[in-house]
Amino acid sequence: MTTVDDIKAMFPEIDLDAIREKYAFERDRRERGDVSKLYHRATGEWERYGADPYIPVVEREPVRDHVEVLVVGGGVAGLSVGSRLRESGIESLRIVEEGGDFGGTWYWNRYPGLRVDIESHVYIPRLEEIGGFPTERYSRGYEVREFLHRLARHFDLYRDALLHTRTTKLEWQDGQWTVRTDRGDVFTATYVIVASGGLATPKLPNIPGIEDFKGSLFHSSRWDYAVTGGGEREPLTGLEGKKVGVIGTGATGVQIVPEVAKYAERVTVFQRTPSTVSFRGNRPTDETHVGSLEPGWQRRRMDNFLAMVSGADPGEDLVQDSWTENWKLLRRHNTGTYVSELTGELRELYEEYLDARVMNAIRARVDEIVEDPKTAELLKPWYRFACKRPTFTDLYLPAFNEPNVELVDTADCGGPSLVTENSVLVDGKEYEIDVLVVATGFTAGLTAVLAGALPVIGREGRSILEVWAQGPRTLHGYMTHEFPNFFQLGPVQSPNAVNFSHILQLHGEHVTKMIVAAKEAGAAYIEPTREMEDAWAAELLEVTAPEADVIVEFKAACTPGFYNGEGKYRARPSEYRPGPVVFQEMLADWRANRIGEVLHTAGEPLGEPTSAVV
Ligand code: NDP
Repeated sequence: MTTVDDIKAMFPEIDLDAIREKYAFERDRRERGDVSKLYHRATGEWERYGADPYIPVVEREPVRDHVEVLVVGGGVAGLSVGSRLRESGIESLRIVEEGGDFGGTWYWNRYPGLRVDIESHVYIPRLEEIGGFPTERYSRGYEVREFLHRLARHFDLYRDALLHTRTTKLEWQDGQWTVRTDRGDVFTATYVIVASGGLATPKLPNIPGIEDFKGSLFHSSRWDYAVTGGGEREPLTGLEGKKVGVIGTGATGVQIVPEVAKYAERVTVFQRTPSTVSFRGNRPTDETHVGSLEPGWQRRRMDNFLAMVSGADPGEDLVQDSWTENWKLLRRHNTGTYVSELTGELRELYEEYLDARVMNAIRARVDEIVEDPKTAELLKPWYRFACKRPTFTDLYLPAFNEPNVELVDTADCGGPSLVTENSVLVDGKEYEIDVLVVATGFTAGLTAVLAGALPVIGREGRSILEVWAQGPRTLHGYMTHEFPNFFQLGPVQSPNAVNFSHILQLHGEHVTKMIVAAKEAGAAYIEPTREMEDAWAAELLEVTAPEADVIVEFKAACTPGFYNGEGKYRARPSEYRPGPVVFQEMLADWRANRIGEVLHTAGEPLGEPTSAVV
């Protein structure tokens, strides 16, 4: 039988006690205090930082009509479900999108250096149907956006769409949804699908004085090319002779810094916590390989990647990049199933050693690349793998060898302490800045509905947030009692995975199948009972129970960030822990055998309000 000593003996190079101590030290020095004061959402008085810098808003007449299906949001989720609905024969379909064009995150994010950091061939939806092939393994942002637009054209999704339009209210009235928007539209819809994304609202750091800054300041997802010059494909000539500050070193910051460093006189990177930066190995697409692909290749590749990074063992690794490599080394994923033969504390210990091995390699890479030892030390991430969003780039670390790039550590003071008219202060030291880029992320996990930006009033006259006062109530994460013909696509009470594009596509397929089934059955409404919601909550608890404490412990031990509620994460996980592969199998079985339970004919009573049991 394997013992603790056997496991220790497998990792002679690792001093786990020292690593644990260092991780705790690095976490504690970043304790955040009142997390509600860390950021300003780009709404209300900060709304201008969320405005569209790319396409001017054009006046139009308000719409008054009826559509069969409304999709709120025209990003990866909305376009995926839209394409499936169109394919299934739904002609009356409207996507309402806040941006001036489709693309969602790929519309808003246009910062220099932007690339998809999941392999394009498994990330970009429906490549086989829409034709064309990404030119590189990890496409530039504009290429992803162009593919999404191609998807929209291919499935005729621009027809009836409302762009530069925010859905402001959904209300169930007289057996259908009344929809209101910020452009004065009032129309009705039989079905509503909210696909508004969980990382949509930019947030700015709440640094004293930031509103007094007189230079140029913008959020990474609203890149101001008027200031920096150039464009997504052109050099940033406007930065010549400029001192640029970058706040934020997450997946976005690590892509921006090397690009800006090519042009600016000086780049000062204000770092609070370093990211893990793994090998990228981007390369052009091999045309001969493309020609040899068998039909169905994309779904096979996507399924394989999903299985790889969800802890399943698909037998072979088709993508073979740093994502799958790291997960192979870890043999687990923080939202998937375990495949280790060990159980309980022995398994935890073994995984901790594996994790330390992966993280040691990531830290060693910093030493190999960054020449100045002091800077290298500051760039080393001291936490367990996937405590933060892993990043992959071969450009970020070498940028710190450039004479015009400077790293300023702000770990002990929680970020810069003050912004003046023309500078940023850290620990009393002043850094003169002309252009301040804030790559400080988005309000995480908050769809428009959850953020309260999109009130949804159900058939009992109550808002969904009232009904969810004690936590989300859904069947499978999509449907909620009291809200007929209403679906939400997102991470609530369903599985998560690094290729969220794939997850969203699966959501879209499932919801489309439900709507088609309802139409075929002649059902007027799709709605689960509250008992089904209770059963789903109980199932989530049950499938999560074996590892719930481990997950809570894992997240609590991480340095703070948006993955762990800025270090305050104590809740038991609410996602479907067995992972997306098991979830899909379960849903297919449910559709085959039980879908009829949520289909109702017109006039059939739909059940008591949820409050009766809360
Ligand atoms: P993140 O929330 O991941 O990172 C924000 C960064 O800002 C962190 O480094 C954070 O530090 C830092 N920060 C926040 N406030 C301050 C402050 N006051 N002072 C100094 N630093 C501060 O946002 P990103 O935009 O980087 O990434 C968001 C998500 O977008 C990713 O998780 C990923 O899902 C996605 N993404 C995907 C890409 C792709 O190619 N597919 C590319 C880029 C992003 P700290 O860690 O200490 O909180």
